[in-house]
Amino acid sequence: MDKKLKEIIKKNKEELIKLSAELFDDINCKVCGECDRNTHGKTRGCCEYCVEHNGYFRNNEIKNIKDLKKEYNFDNKLGFWDKGCKLPREKRSLTCLYYCCEKLEDEVIKIKGRNKWDEFRQKEIVIREGFSLLVNLQSIKQFIKSNE
Ligand code: SF4
Ligand code: SF4
Repeated sequence: MDKKLKEIIKKNKEELIKLSAELFDDINCKVCGECDRNTHGKTRGCCEYCVEHNGYFRNNEIKNIKDLKKEYNFDNKLGFWDKGCKLPREKRSLTCLYYCCEKLEDEVIKIKGRNKWDEFRQKEIVIREGFSLLVNLQSIKQFIKSNE
């Protein structure tokens, strides 16, 4: 059971990462490199809190965050951020894989128009729900493991 769940999580995670890359890569490239992590001076961008939230990894989502921090030079002020995220998509937390900050949202509307934003939003919701399902599956897997 544990092995089967592990395979399901792995396969679906790979698929969802591909989908999130298709949806976000262009817009991430356009916006994140110039980002000051502060959206319009009122609401802060999600990456502002990278340090406080340790890259938004949930409990047990990653085996050894210390190694990841070392490998990608986690900064004590900027976290994994340096003109965009230093982590390749497949190494980011599930939260960072689906979350669309206000700055990205504004940019999608500016570039693609309000109608396209609705389409983008629908896809984003499907991806977010998919990742949320994976988070639940991970919890189930851990629960099974702890009761073996
Ligand atoms: S995801 Fe948002 S807060 Fe993070 S670098 Fe991109 S635009 Fe800035
Ligand atoms: S891990 Fe990357 S995407 Fe996530 S908050 Fe940190 S810099 Fe932003």
